[in-house]
Amino acid sequence: MKTGENLALKSFTTFGVAARAARVVEIDSPADLARCRFEPATDLVLGGGSNVLLAGDIDGTVFLNRIRGMRAVEDRGESVLVEARGGQLWHSLVLWSLREGLSGLENLSLIPGLVGAAPMQNIGAYGVELSEVLERVEAWDWQQGRMVEFSTAECGFAYRDSRFKSRDAGRFFITRIFLRLARHFTPRLDYDELREELGRSNIAAPDAHQVSRAVIMLRRRKLPDPTLLGNAGSFFKNPQVSAAEAESLRARFRDLPSFPANASTVKLSAAWLIEQCGWKGHREGDAGVSDRHALVLVNHGNASGAEILALAHRVRDSVLERTGVRLEPEARIYPETRT
Ligand code: FAD
Ligand code: NAP
Repeated sequence: MKTGENLALKSFTTFGVAARAARVVEIDSPADLARCRFEPATDLVLGGGSNVLLAGDIDGTVFLNRIRGMRAVEDRGESVLVEARGGQLWHSLVLWSLREGLSGLENLSLIPGLVGAAPMQNIGAYGVELSEVLERVEAWDWQQGRMVEFSTAECGFAYRDSRFKSRDAGRFFITRIFLRLARHFTPRLDYDELREELGRSNIAAPDAHQVSRAVIMLRRRKLPDPTLLGNAGSFFKNPQVSAAEAESLRARFRDLPSFPANASTVKLSAAWLIEQCGWKGHREGDAGVSDRHALVLVNHGNASGAEILALAHRVRDSVLERTGVRLEPEARIYPETRT
């Protein structure tokens, strides 16, 4: 367990904003956790920092997850139970599972960050969510000072949400997850762009590797690379509204993309709403909105977290004023008092 005092955090998040932490602790094993205390008001757990905006310094301790590894733990023939530890790079798990002949994660290729953060917002892409393959989560409960386990049903998963992100925020350190992956591949090709990408390569009946490669190609083309331009992916969630509200919005904005979310709600494209308000490609100093994707706020170099947050508020307010739809941030903002 390595520790450091008064450390710069610029390279610890994909936004690449300057901030300092009073203390940083690297957690190498579950035993390290038993020796630490966590103060939810000031402390923070960080994985790859790809869903976080640091709007100021962290006065407490930043805990870094360094518990790595992944392996098959049970083989039922048609499916395999995989254990992945929280400090493992998510995309390396996806590639490893494909090499092992296992499917279920291919649509989630190239999502940045670490395994331990994946249950936080029930990561999802191209019509697939983590919750569909997850069997259970192991976590250290800072409050009770012991390891606990949650079945998928107990995780409170929803669209880009879970109990870990909402009602139990700051209570658990996720140490490992267990996934049930399939030997037989069933393609999930609901998204037009994914089918079109495969079509461009003349692939009519793709295997899991081909779906993964198509997702990787699409993401590289559509999203700014955080190693070149600081960002945290989608800054806002796609809003979900009642069917009646969606109908009245579509009457005003005929091209507004919308998708059924569940029996009574409709998901709207936040990127489209932001673009309609003229923000795509907008820049204020070094804080900006990506010119490739209106849902992605970017740091052109030396923007502070506070400047990016101020821009996010202006984007949110203008969408609310023009359309009546309130955007909620998907990225986590710390210190939490500034949100
Ligand atoms: P961090 O940013 O470090 O942390 C995120 C949150 O989880 C914080 O609240 C942190 O305190 C908490 N946390 C982290 N690890 C733990 C742990 N072990 N225990 C308890 N709490 C923890 N997300 C999607 O869902 N789908 C996408 O398609 C997607 N695409 C993206 C594309 C780009 C270019 C970028 C930059 C981001 C994208 N994201 C996407 C967002 C992000 O990559 C995911 O949310 C990812 O799971 C975050 O992982 P992380 O390790 O970087 O978490
Ligand atoms: P896209 O394919 O251009 O689609 C635009 C929006 O419409 C997406 O947000 C998506 O919702 C929704 N959508 C499209 N087809 C849909 C369908 N058949 N059924 C339901 N919803 C549909 O999206 P994109 O921005 O290029 O992103 C591609 C995928 O990667 C999306 O799933 C997106 O969530 C994910 N992604 C996530 C992040 C992040 O940081 N969270 C960043 C980049 C990409 P959903 O977003 O709900 O899927």
